[in-house]
Amino acid sequence: MAGTVLDSSLAPFGLILVLLFGLTFGSFANVLISRVPDKESLWTRSNCPHCDREIRWTENIPVLSYILLKARCAGCKAKISFIYPAVEIAMTALFILPFLIFHSWHQTILWLIFSLFGLPLVVIDLKLHRLPDTLTAPLFISAFIAIILFSIQEGNFSRILPSLIGCVSLVAFYFAVALISKGGMGMGDVKLSAAIGLASGYFGVSAVLVSSFAAFFLGSFVGILLMVVGKAGRKTAIPFGPFMIIGQFISIATIAHTYFNFG
Ligand SMILES: [Zn+2]
Repeated sequence: MAGTVLDSSLAPFGLILVLLFGLTFGSFANVLISRVPDKESLWTRSNCPHCDREIRWTENIPVLSYILLKARCAGCKAKISFIYPAVEIAMTALFILPFLIFHSWHQTILWLIFSLFGLPLVVIDLKLHRLPDTLTAPLFISAFIAIILFSIQEGNFSRILPSLIGCVSLVAFYFAVALISKGGMGMGDVKLSAAIGLASGYFGVSAVLVSSFAAFFLGSFVGILLMVVGKAGRKTAIPFGPFMIIGQFISIATIAHTYFNFG
């Protein structure tokens, strides 16, 4: 842990804090996943989707409540999907990881921004084949604000132009693919590519390329795999957003790492 963004003397306390933040944002990600696609308010209390019973705070503790309730609603005993604790655990892992391995706050903050909006986007895209603007827009704005703040903090604005070039070129590329593929790639993917191009452009051209190559490599690999096991045909639409976000995580973790340590 020495030398990572988490100062070693504060490490145990810091890690517990990061863990609590991860669980809390994981819980909030579940709210986003269930409400954003239907444009419901995010600030009202949650109800059981089966019996409409209001969920008490004691039944809403990340992961723990799922275990204590034995995966069933306290009112009607309807089964609670494993997706809820899975999202909470995944978000917690995404929060802890950068603090253990990254040496730069820029890398860590962009990773956290992509975790916060990316994880709900992945789940919604897998479930509904959609990437709502309500999530891709704040992802873009957060990444943009982060890059401006990094530049102000460093007193060096030379990374803003590569970021914008990354953004424009990736959007142009995805837009062309969307036109050619006639619905294979959607406008949601094009909008998501704006945030990805902007954030990876900050780390240079190679980061944009790694992010995109990883997405297309993983996408084709999984597509072929699904065809081989007979789960997909030539015409099956496979959501591409999850691969774009995984590609972006790979890019932040690898290229951004070399950029800050050797570049
Ligand atoms: Zn219920």
